[in-house]
Amino acid sequence: MTHQNRTRSSELYEEALQHIVGGVNSPSRSFKAVGGGAPVFMKRAQGAYFWDVDGNQYVDYLAAYGPIITGHAHPHVTEAITRAAQNGTLYGAPTELEIQLARMLKEAIPSMDKVRFVNSGTEAVMTTIRVARAYTKRNKIIKFAGCYHGHSDLVLVAAGSGPSTLGIPDSAGIPASIAQEVITVPFNDLDSLKLALERWGDDIAAVMVEPIVGNFGMVMPAEGFLEGLCEMTRANGSLVIYDEVISAFRFHYGSTQTFRAFPNQAAIEPDLTALGKVIGGGLPIGAYGGRKHVMEQVAPLGPAYQAGTMAGNPASISAGIACLEVLQGEGVYPRMEELAIRLTAGIEEGAKRYGVPLTINRISGAFSTHFCDHPVTNYEEAQDTDTEAFAAFFRHMLDQGFYLAPSKYEAWFLTTEHTETDIDRTIEAAHESFRRMTK
Ligand code: PLP
Repeated sequence: MTHQNRTRSSELYEEALQHIVGGVNSPSRSFKAVGGGAPVFMKRAQGAYFWDVDGNQYVDYLAAYGPIITGHAHPHVTEAITRAAQNGTLYGAPTELEIQLARMLKEAIPSMDKVRFVNSGTEAVMTTIRVARAYTKRNKIIKFAGCYHGHSDLVLVAAGSGPSTLGIPDSAGIPASIAQEVITVPFNDLDSLKLALERWGDDIAAVMVEPIVGNFGMVMPAEGFLEGLCEMTRANGSLVIYDEVISAFRFHYGSTQTFRAFPNQAAIEPDLTALGKVIGGGLPIGAYGGRKHVMEQVAPLGPAYQAGTMAGNPASISAGIACLEVLQGEGVYPRMEELAIRLTAGIEEGAKRYGVPLTINRISGAFSTHFCDHPVTNYEEAQDTDTEAFAAFFRHMLDQGFYLAPSKYEAWFLTTEHTETDIDRTIEAAHESFRRMTK
């Protein structure tokens, strides 16, 4: 089995540290959570593979934290981007393309009567909160521990000491006065949500949730959780916001709101939805939308201001349309799911053979590996896992040419471009990694 030479990556990291804070443009790309050292500097990607600056090849399970669901440089997406570039990349005036993508989103996500495009998931989420506040004329939001909603001030706030305690900032630079507008409760815990609503009810503009969690591993809502959440929130006169930046178009063509695991679809529709990642086909994008009467709060129709120089740019929109067109293909999602079933079964078998405690949460073609011997249904359980075992596994996989996200909380994503051969090679490498971890 290979031991890679990554000399050039190390050199570039040293250089990057001189110019770019921490050497990376997003902290999740650093290897801090898996023992530190130089991250791998990539040079090229095609399909399910990466090649780094030292010439090493990797099978990619990161998919750029989700967006690259059709693999890298997919010909249909590439052609759409090329065409857009040739026609001018930014107009600052509306285009027909924006209408086309908005239609596609609305058809797939029935709770979205009206859509607005922005540039990132962070922006989309941030604006849903503003719109909910404008609509309800209330200020506070409730969110769930461990759900990540981008890096705007309000949602970078962690739990207080109990379910109805006000938040404390999760990052320096966030005033306590802002953190006080956020209440964090445990995911999958309706009793805590009820307590928080009882205590702060009149002030709550919205309850914000990742309806299927992708940020402390993949975690499904317990049966009845989303129904209960929607019911209680609405009874309180607050809005429900679904952050579907990861979940939309990841598990099937649509969002959690129509995912087949939930028979009672109408009851789990939110008032506002935030989108990003997959809907841009690998270019920067975000979108938010919801019921007409709520969305009419947004300028130029209403008093809630939101704007963007780059919003709806033809390249991102074209890439998004092309990506969704690929995902509309026959059998695309079942195939990713089949591969994920095969892969997780193989990994589980390896963990068992070498006696490594492992819980896998798989949803369709995405899954997370938690090094523990208990189920993972909320953030506390996801934290209570073996960080060092994950780091060792990550490094052994990397060494053999398999690129996972460098954090125990991140998911593995299948793409339309992974093959059975990739999967079988990954299983072999996972067995070898477990062997090395236990020898
Ligand atoms: N919401 C969720 C659920 C996310 O996973 C992310 C990013 O990972 C965001 C929002 C923020 O999106 P972006 O990184 O595009 O700003």
